[in-house]
Amino acid sequence: RASAELQPLDSTVSDSERFRDCKPLFISCTSCRAPFEFGGIQASKRYQVTFSGVKCLSCQQVLSPLAISSQLEHFLRHEISTYYAGWLVCDDCGVKTRQVSVYGRRCIGKNGKAYGCKGIMRYIYPDKQLYNQLLYAMSLFDVDKAKKRLLKPLTADLGVEDKENKLVPMNQGELDALVEQNRESFKTYQMVIDKYLTECGRRYVDMGGIFEFMSVFKR
Ligand SMILES: [Zn+2]
Ligand SMILES: [Zn+2]
Repeated sequence: RASAELQPLDSTVSDSERFRDCKPLFISCTSCRAPFEFGGIQASKRYQVTFSGVKCLSCQQVLSPLAISSQLEHFLRHEISTYYAGWLVCDDCGVKTRQVSVYGRRCIGKNGKAYGCKGIMRYIYPDKQLYNQLLYAMSLFDVDKAKKRLLKPLTADLGVEDKENKLVPMNQGELDALVEQNRESFKTYQMVIDKYLTECGRRYVDMGGIFEFMSVFKR
């Protein structure tokens, strides 16, 4: 499943661009149940990163680190299991299957006998996408990126923003202080993600190179 399209991290590509197609990480408040899109340390109308942790703005409850790490794990497990499910789709007729035909990537066709369609089967969830998704999750807890305002903007806030409803960006002093205050706890969340990256690399030899390369916490 290793893909030739995979390329080393290009530092000239912004997070907005690189993670354009990534699924947002939604966290539900453990008190009022309101879900919010978590985008790291940046301004949002739904949550706020404070000196004591991530606070839900619907009910002002500060979420426990365990509540965040368990929801983060749930998100990662879901992405990884979707990837391992290995569904293929034909780029021509759109037929879906989990079987790779004996004819390689040739479309199995509606009749399953590899004739009637000249299309090529591709993974619905390619390895590059999983890799990107894990990178995206990692970036959300990257405090140095937050400090330089390089995080991908929240998609949930984009649509609702207008002149009266403007999202005020944090001032740099406040941002710097929040970054230092949350550095250690955010590193703990990154280690949760790193555990999955390492696991993927070990289980799938042809992906090992990719995931080993990107693992942040080398042992
Ligand atoms: Zn709440
Ligand atoms: Zn086809």
